[in-house]
Amino acid sequence: MKIGVLGAGQLGRMLAISGYPLNHQFGFSGNSIDEPSALLGHMFALEDNKDNIESLVAFADVITYESENTDIAIIKEISKNVVVYPGEKSLFTTQHRGREKALFDQLNIPCAPYQMVNSEADLKAAVEKISLPAILKTATDGYDGKGQFLMRDESQITEAWQSMNGVESILEGFVNFKRELSLIAVRGIDNDHRYYPLVENTHHNGILRLTIAPAQDIDPVVQTTAEHYMQTLLDEMGHVGVLTIELFETEDGLVVNEMAPRVHNSGHWSIEGANTSQFENHVRAITGMSLGDTTPVHNFSAMVNIIGKTGPTNIVLKMPNAHLHLYDKTERADRKLGHINIMASTQTELDESIEKLKDFLP
Ligand code: ATP
Ligand code: MG
Repeated sequence: MKIGVLGAGQLGRMLAISGYPLNHQFGFSGNSIDEPSALLGHMFALEDNKDNIESLVAFADVITYESENTDIAIIKEISKNVVVYPGEKSLFTTQHRGREKALFDQLNIPCAPYQMVNSEADLKAAVEKISLPAILKTATDGYDGKGQFLMRDESQITEAWQSMNGVESILEGFVNFKRELSLIAVRGIDNDHRYYPLVENTHHNGILRLTIAPAQDIDPVVQTTAEHYMQTLLDEMGHVGVLTIELFETEDGLVVNEMAPRVHNSGHWSIEGANTSQFENHVRAITGMSLGDTTPVHNFSAMVNIIGKTGPTNIVLKMPNAHLHLYDKTERADRKLGHINIMASTQTELDESIEKLKDFLP
């Protein structure tokens, strides 16, 4: 099939790399032909021609998107002519933190206490209800921890609200977590559901730096609980494709942070680490193919992000158990330029391999 992707970043690039062996073709709409996906398929660059979305729709048998920040009006328009997966409900819900949290509440999925905030007075009232510490976040358009203000003291109310630049925001109670986890799953057109194991994520300055897969010492009940939340969300939204849930592990169990209607950075380990990668499974789902097995191939996998500077990649190439993935992006502070996947049989081998990659970690 011909798959049209809205966006042309590294996620589109890796979708295409996984989809060609299945005989699919790809087209991308992006801002410029310099983007990471540009050489991986037909490129409909918006910079050159505003009508290029129409050309992408004419090209594609099915459309998917790289980001929950995709304009819903465009999806509505496109849907008249070609099927879009994941569908409108998934995008509409996940692109707004308030709508997302309302759905968690409706489905009895635990999340942090929250209040929507549209003014300084709202924020003052929200702080009284939720109490501090709490995090003020823009309701839409956040990524990599951008558009967030950690509030510790009531004296910060004015400063916190001003930092939101007047846009609709949400105040979330601060969750005292032991560690951060994520669950990636895929739902097919035929209602088949497949789950990857929970993985453990370490962030630095709001950016994911390290994923360990599977997360160690996970009680089977915790995996089952996370899968139950996932299944409820997939079914409620009629989701087709990959869905990711970010979670906090706390003393009192799992608390859901947010979700993403797409392949996720914390699933990149699955390229070599699972029988079927998250990318291939997304492609299979949206093209109506049977879903692939999500079982890990190795006892341990890890994913180290390459952020800002490409760094000493020769170290990676010399490691027998490491795989280098670069996204063809120029260096810039905080930019995701690539990642390294590590496979290991033992915890010691995993630890030693991560140690060898210390130049890539903060
Ligand atoms: P991304 O798109 O990269 O996942 P984001 O910008 O959408 O990130 P969040 O995932 O909401 O933002 O927050 C980024 C990080 O900030 C989280 O991974 C977590 O470390 C911390 N964080 C966010 N919300 C809370 C909270 N309510 N309590 C404690 N920590 C939080
Ligand atoms: Mg997040």
